[in-house]
Amino acid sequence: IVRAVDVCKSFGAFQALEGITVDIPAGEVLCVIGPSGSGKSTFLRCINQLETVTAGALWVGGELVGYRRVGNKLYALSESEIARQRRKTGMVFQRLNLFPHMTALENVTEGPLRVQRRARDQVIAEAQALLARVGLAHKSDAFPIELSGGQQQRVAIARALAMRPQLMLFDEPTSALDPELVGEVLSVMRDLAASGMTMVVVTHELGFARDVSSRVIFMDQGRIVETGSPGQILLQPRHPRTREFISAVR
Ligand code: ATP
Ligand code: MG
Repeated sequence: IVRAVDVCKSFGAFQALEGITVDIPAGEVLCVIGPSGSGKSTFLRCINQLETVTAGALWVGGELVGYRRVGNKLYALSESEIARQRRKTGMVFQRLNLFPHMTALENVTEGPLRVQRRARDQVIAEAQALLARVGLAHKSDAFPIELSGGQQQRVAIARALAMRPQLMLFDEPTSALDPELVGEVLSVMRDLAASGMTMVVVTHELGFARDVSSRVIFMDQGRIVETGSPGQILLQPRHPRTREFISAVR
């Protein structure tokens, strides 16, 4: 569902991503680990076009991201076409970022109503079902400030799912939470993985990576250093940098 071929991203002279090549089939749960500054967030942001890649090519859901190919020429897509492509992915961030002036339910219905212009009754019913799925049926009328961090992240997951994405991106969704709230968010992500959702998860939760992911990527300095099964990467890393990182995080 995602194919990256030699993807590079630079900010000025600084190379944040250098030659990222990876294929993510539908249904895969891919965990991305690596030290701070290794390019994990930048990679996710390229997948959903919060950043544009500077070299290489990226396909999401079978479409080249950001460009249309006509013959052997590439033309940049219009803003509305980019917005359409972006809707294939849902993203959950580290920072809590619900709309503060809207209830949990309104946060979830906003996209489907305003952006997708779907029928109101149906959107509300679906949003209530999504809130129930993340264990928050009883909080639909609460404002973000009335919710714990873990509850806010669960609403954020429901909000992303309400747009019916083909792919979910998670950028350290639990690292801003108090330790006792981490489990409830990971458990929602675990259920989502079990339902067959394709997921790319940047995380330092090696237990989650071990139990839930189908594959783990270790990144360092903008490159993929090592890719393998969770067992291989977490227990028998081949590369010294991976070994060093795993023993430091554990
Ligand atoms: P962390 O674990 O701290 O979140 P990360 O692996 O997600 O790190 P990125 O946020 O992808 O790392 O950043 C990779 C590198 O690119 C960093 O050195 C960062 O400073 C740089 N970078 C990211 N965004 C920008 C930007 N908009 N302008 C300039 N440099 C940037
Ligand atoms: Mg990051």
